[in-house]
Amino acid sequence: MLEIKNITCYYGVICALKDVTITIPDDGIYAIIGANGAGKSTLINSIAGLVTPVSGSIVFDGKEITSIPTKDVIRTGIALCPEGRRIFKNISVYENLVGGAYIMKDKKRIEENVNYVYELFPRLKERHRQLAGTLSGGEQQMLAMGRALMTDPKLLLLDEPSMGLAPNLIDFTFETMVRIHRERHIPSLVVEQNSEMALSVANYAYVLEVGRLTLEGTGEELLASDEVKNKYLGA
Ligand code: ATP
Repeated sequence: MLEIKNITCYYGVICALKDVTITIPDDGIYAIIGANGAGKSTLINSIAGLVTPVSGSIVFDGKEITSIPTKDVIRTGIALCPEGRRIFKNISVYENLVGGAYIMKDKKRIEENVNYVYELFPRLKERHRQLAGTLSGGEQQMLAMGRALMTDPKLLLLDEPSMGLAPNLIDFTFETMVRIHRERHIPSLVVEQNSEMALSVANYAYVLEVGRLTLEGTGEELLASDEVKNKYLGA
């Protein structure tokens, strides 16, 4: 379970998150929606150790992880699929996947995970020897999601996985998120500007507005909320 308690983050004088408290239990898909600049990436990055909160605490599976380096966060079982993919462009698809499992020692399990990623994304299997930098944007997104699964994570963090994708790939991305949850029972926290898709798959969701949480509820409740409809669903 991930417990974020009263975290506040600044960039210089800009307050990006103010007193944010969220609990992510061991099961389910959780979403954070909000407009540009609402603080969604800051929230994900503070969990991943890429941004240091000025106050508050983040506890994962009973271990305090506030402000610890990203490499140590990953060892606790949290995997990050970052905004903008950040795959290694000069090595192959296969090498990206195996490289993503660098904290794992069990070679057999690494190969099982590669095969699972290829099952989820047959296009990656077809292109396993291709340099990752030559993949299309959608394929790079598949690789970033696949790579995040390579460590057998206990929590998956996804930062704007649908950004820049064509409509059919956006659907596929969210369907895959649901499939991973169903087949591997990995809880996930997804931050998204595509509020409608995120809320349609989320068991529970939060709305961030200029650094503060303003609404929360099940995906269904938020999809039905007039405030969400007016502000985020283009009603
Ligand atoms: P988007 O959907 O556009 O990615 P977001 O909800 O993820 O937005 P953040 O990227 O977390 O929002 O940004 C929150 C606020 O913090 C914004 O006002 C942004 O300009 C500011 N900010 C983010 N990163 C930095 C930085 N490295 N230096 C200064 N200000 C930053």
